[in-house]
Amino acid sequence: MKTLKKSGFFVYLLILPFLAGNWSCAAKKNYQEEKIVHQENKIIPKAILEEATIALSHYPELKDVEIEFRYKSNIKNAFMQAQPKFSNLFKGKKNRGYYVFMSSKFLIEDEEFSMTDVPSEVLIGWLGHELGHIKDYTDKSALGLVIFGTRYIASEKFIKKAERTADTNAINQGMGNYIFATKDFILNHSGLSDSYKKRKARLYLSPQEILVMVNGLDEELAAELDEELVELEEEPEEGES
Ligand SMILES: [Zn+2]
Repeated sequence: MKTLKKSGFFVYLLILPFLAGNWSCAAKKNYQEEKIVHQENKIIPKAILEEATIALSHYPELKDVEIEFRYKSNIKNAFMQAQPKFSNLFKGKKNRGYYVFMSSKFLIEDEEFSMTDVPSEVLIGWLGHELGHIKDYTDKSALGLVIFGTRYIASEKFIKKAERTADTNAINQGMGNYIFATKDFILNHSGLSDSYKKRKARLYLSPQEILVMVNGLDEELAAELDEELVELEEEPEEGES
């Protein structure tokens, strides 16, 4: 087995994903001054406590996993982002902790959004997606995570695979309706830029794909979603700009 001491370059390679772009763990300060709730091994800002609790209830296997939900001032191309805590990354799978970084305000091509603009079920779906990433991370070794981070930065094909895995995990945990609501919000919200929507459409599961997956899990729920999908596919009469 290789040791970390062996080469400074190797250590640099390990750290690189945490320094670069989307994987930066340099959360300088809480974006908002607000109450933080500590629940055993979970740290949750009070404003999203209800939604986070619902999302977490779908992941009983993450009960013993330390997760900190935290505001971060700039997250590139995203509203939220899950990543392992670098401080305990090498302490073994069971002792590892994770962040779910969230933008309390986020700019997408000059349109500013805040958490309060987002309906609860959409927020739950978003958090469920991030927990889907964490579920994926919990199975990986520290080195596996570092490789994951590097490839996530380098390859759009890899991003697509990772994002679909997160969506799929959330759907398998019974969050299909929430994931659908989030997708609907992203793809049909007038305030989000076309390039952001296109990016999401390109990299994430489509509403139709979600439907097919949910269908396999729960026919009754799928029938409900089917109605929504028909509405979704009909071009809106009045053009929102
Ligand atoms: Zn994601």
